[in-house]
Parts: sequence; structure tokens; C-alpha cells
Amino acid sequence: MAALRKQAEGCERCDLYKNATQLVFGEGPAKARVVLIGEQPGDREDLAGRPFVGPAGRILDECLHEAGIDRSSCYLTNAVKHFKFEQRGKRRLHSRPNAGEIERCSWWLGAELETLHPKVVVALGATALSSLLGRRAGVMKIRGDLIATPAGYPVLVTIHPSYLLRIRNKEDAAAERGRFVKDLAKIAAHAG
Ligand code: SF4
Repeated sequence: MAALRKQAEGCERCDLYKNATQLVFGEGPAKARVVLIGEQPGDREDLAGRPFVGPAGRILDECLHEAGIDRSSCYLTNAVKHFKFEQRGKRRLHSRPNAGEIERCSWWLGAELETLHPKVVVALGATALSSLLGRRAGVMKIRGDLIATPAGYPVLVTIHPSYLLRIRNKEDAAAERGRFVKDLAKIAAHAG
């Protein structure tokens, strides 16, 4: 995995490397049975060079804990490895990767999965799911379900934790958080 990461540091398969601070590759144990896949690094991740260290990562940590899953036993990565953003004054606003960027970066995600051979993969949101399936895909109708990728990996589908940060109504946010924890709690049954 270290060699793969080194190789990815020189990646120019799409233009996103040009404005990002650095590559944010996946991290976790070499024998991880569970791989969690997000969308792309955010502002904090881009600066730190590590996945899921910002606000969405904090919610993910809490929800994994509540679901009885130890984050340190999982491999965490993103479908797209460089931060895509729009500069607004001093702020860098998240910008969603397009289909071409997802497709080009899926080469690295595929290589990570081939190296790890996980028991279960968790698609956190539509970008991760689209990357795994090789086509545009929505999560809401199949969240909580286990599906198979063309490469044969069992994938548990759920939302991206950043979705929870965008819900304004407290009751709705709490209900949605509960559903997310319930989805994550299914990991243990599939991780064997
Ligand atoms: S986002 Fe992915 S495909 Fe694009 S340059 Fe970065 S590592 Fe390469």
C-alpha cells in the first residue's frame, strides 16, 4: 500500500492535483476487513493530508463508535483523492467531483481494494457508490442494503456523514443520525 500511495502522489490522471495542497490517500491497517469510502478530501483533510479529520470525520467517528465499530480497525479512503474546491475570497468551498474525475480516480480506489481484499466495503454517499459501480448512482433507495460491485465486493450503501451537518432541523438531524448509526451497525454482520 505504501508503494501505491507513493505512486499516487505523482498522479496527473485528472486536473484536480493542480490546485489541491496534496494527495489524500486512504489510511488504515493492512489487514482491514472493512473499507469505508467517502467522496473526496475536504478543506481540513487537504491541509492535513489525511482522510476524515474534519467535521464530517468527527461525526463518522462518533457514529461508528455508537454502532460498535472501532474506526482504527477500518481502512478509510475517498473516491477522489484530491480536494476540489471553489475559491471565494479566503474560503475554499467544496465542489463536487464530476463523472470524469470520479472515473479517473476510481483506478486508485480499485487498486486499494485489490491490495486489501476487504470483507465489506461501505459506500458513504453517491460519489463513492458511483465510483464502485462505474456509473451514476443514488443512495437513498438502497441505503442500508448490501449490493455487489462489478469487481465482486459486497458494498453496504449509506449516506455521507457531511449530509448530517447540513440538516437544519434538530429533530430531523437526530432521526437521520440514528438511521446512519443503524446502517453502520450492519457492518459487523458482514465483516465476519
Ligand atoms: S483526483 Fe485522483 S485521478 Fe485526479 S489527479 Fe488526484 S489522484 Fe489523480
